[in-house]
Amino acid sequence: MEEEQLSRKTENTAFQCEHCGFTVLPLNNGSFRNHCPNCLYSKHLDILPGDRASQCKGLMKPIGVDYASKKGYQVIHQCTKCSYTVRNKVATNCKQEDQLVQFMQMQTK
Ligand SMILES: [Zn+2]
Ligand SMILES: [Zn+2]
Repeated sequence: MEEEQLSRKTENTAFQCEHCGFTVLPLNNGSFRNHCPNCLYSKHLDILPGDRASQCKGLMKPIGVDYASKKGYQVIHQCTKCSYTVRNKVATNCKQEDQLVQFMQMQTK
């Protein structure tokens, strides 16, 4: 809910994934990207979603996928430094779609 309003204010720029080296382009569908579409890793940058106020900057590992009827699929990330967990909306219908199917297959192996 509030999360989405906050994240829209944040800059949407390309970045390189620190886990797999993939160049992550900004989303072209008006929403905000905070994780790698290739390996789904994220970075612990926010205290509140989109605020970039965290001093941790640890790598956040995708530990699971959740589905909510209103928000759609969400990836659950856990920080490898401080164990903080957060849910992030999955990017679909855009240039670099999240490799969610691959990730779910990895989870079930
Ligand atoms: Zn990556
Ligand atoms: Zn952290």
